[in-house]
Amino acid sequence: MSQLDSPRFDNSYTALPERFYARQKPTPVRAPELIRINRALAAELGISADWLTSPEGLQVLAGNKIAPGSVPIATAYAGHQFGNWNPRLGDGRAVLLGEVMAVDGQRYDMQLKGAGRTPFARGGDGRAPLGPVLREYVVSEAMAALGVPTSRSLAAVTTGEQVMRDHPQPGGVLTRICSSHIRIGTFQYFAGMDDIEAVQILADHVITRHYPEAAEAERPYVALLQAVIASQATLIAHWQQLGFIHGVMNTDNMLVSGETIDYGPCAFMDAYHPETVFSSIDRGGRYAYVNQPGIGQWNLAWLARALLPLLDKDEEIAVQAAQQAIDDYVSLYQRAYHDLMARKLGLASSDEGSIALVEELLELMKAAGTDYTLTFRRLSELVGPQGGGEGDSVADIFQLPESFAPWQEKWRLALEQQPLSSTERQQQMLALNPAYIARNHLVEEVIRAAEDEGDLQPFHDLIDRLASPFEYRSQDARYALPPTPEQRVYATFC
Ligand code: AMP
Ligand code: MG
Ligand code: MG
Repeated sequence: MSQLDSPRFDNSYTALPERFYARQKPTPVRAPELIRINRALAAELGISADWLTSPEGLQVLAGNKIAPGSVPIATAYAGHQFGNWNPRLGDGRAVLLGEVMAVDGQRYDMQLKGAGRTPFARGGDGRAPLGPVLREYVVSEAMAALGVPTSRSLAAVTTGEQVMRDHPQPGGVLTRICSSHIRIGTFQYFAGMDDIEAVQILADHVITRHYPEAAEAERPYVALLQAVIASQATLIAHWQQLGFIHGVMNTDNMLVSGETIDYGPCAFMDAYHPETVFSSIDRGGRYAYVNQPGIGQWNLAWLARALLPLLDKDEEIAVQAAQQAIDDYVSLYQRAYHDLMARKLGLASSDEGSIALVEELLELMKAAGTDYTLTFRRLSELVGPQGGGEGDSVADIFQLPESFAPWQEKWRLALEQQPLSSTERQQQMLALNPAYIARNHLVEEVIRAAEDEGDLQPFHDLIDRLASPFEYRSQDARYALPPTPEQRVYATFC
C-alpha cells in the first residue's frame, strides 16, 4: 500500500437499475477545513490517514473533488415519518461516493452527509449545520465503542459557508460509513409504486450483500425477512440496555443491515424513566424510550408488507409467513433484551428470576430517579472480590440510594446461586456496564464551544474519552457525571 492511498471503490449499487438512484455529484463548498479524521476506522477501511489529511483528501471529504473510482449518487427511498406515509424521500442532502472494500473483505458505503441539494431535496438546502455533524460524529463513535451496530464517522469538515436555520450557523460535512444505506423505506419506495420487479432486485442485492445465508434457505425471501427482523430485534435490545433513545425511528431511518443510523435528535437517558423523550419534533412521544421495541416491530411490519409478493405465490401463505416473522420479533427482542439485562447484573443468562430482578430494579430506579448508567456501573463495582472498594470507582460521584438495600440483598442471593466466580462476574459486568456514555449535556457543551468560539478541542477531548467507555478513570470523572439541573438538556434538535 502506498503512503497516499485513496479509497479503492468497488460500487455495486450503481449496477442496479437507474430508478434506484440519481447520479448526483456533491456541490462544492467555498473554504473547507478538516475538523477530524477517524484514523482507526481509516485503517480498517484500508484508506490511508495521510491521504485523508492531504489537500486532495480534504477536497474529496468536502465534496469539491471526485476521487478516482467514485460514482456519486443520491439513493431513492420512501418512508413512514411519525406514522405518516411519504412515498418519496431519498437522499436529500447526502451523496453516496461509492463502496469501499475494507481490509477484512467487507463492503462499506462511503457517504457525504450535507453535500448539497439532490433531486430528492424537496424544499431543503442540502446542507448540514456544524452542530448536528459534531453530534453525529460523537454519538456514532460512542455507540461503536459501546459495541452497538452502527454507522461510523470517518471524517468531519467545515465548509466555510453559513447554513440558514433559525439563525445562521456554520456548515459541515460528515463522511459516514456503514455496511449499506439500504433502509426499510428503500423497499417501501418500490413496493409503494407496485414495482415488484424492483423489490425483488433489491431483495437479491440485500441477500448477496448482508444475508448470503438466506440464499441457501428453502424460501430465500422469507429467510431475508427473518434475518432483518432478527438483526433489528438485537439492535433495539442493545439500545434499551444502554438507555439510548434514537428519537426518529421512521422507517426510512432503519437500515436492513441492522446498524443504527441517522443520529439526529437522539440521546442517552440520564435519570431512568421509561417515558423519556428528547426529540423536540416528537411531540406525542411516539419515539419515547419505552416505545422503541414496539415501534421496531411496527416498522418491520412495513418491510414484511413490501416483501409480501416475494414471500409466496399464494397470497394467503405469504401473509402467514409475514405474520409469523413479525410475531417472532417479540420473542427475539425479549430474549436479546432479557439476556443482556441479566448479564448486566452478573448473571450467566436470563430466566424468570432474573427478569423479575431487573423489573424490580428498574422500578426502584424510576422511583428514585437514579442515573441509568451509573446505577449499573456501581453495581458492577460491588460484585468484585474486594467488594468495590479498590481502585478508581464511581462511588466518588454516585451512591446507590438506601431504598435499594432490600433489592441488593435479593440480588446477592441470586448471584450466589450462579456458577460464575466473583472475578468472572465482575469482568462480565464491567464489560457490559459503561462508565461513560455520550451524555447529552456534554454533546451540547461541545457543540456550543465549536459554534460560539470556534473551539473544537472539547469535541476532540470528548471523542477520546468516549473511545474506552468501560474503563473508569477518576481524572475523567466529569465525563461520567450526570448533568446538574442547570446542565440538563430537555430536547435535542436535528
Ligand atoms: P431525517 O429526518 O434526517 O431522516 O430526514 C428526512 C428526509 O429529509 C430525508 O429524505 C433527508 O434527506 C431529507 N432532508 C433532511 N434535511 C435536509 C436538508 N437540509 N436538505 C435536503 N433534504 C433534507
Ligand atoms: Mg433520515
Ligand atoms: Mg437525519
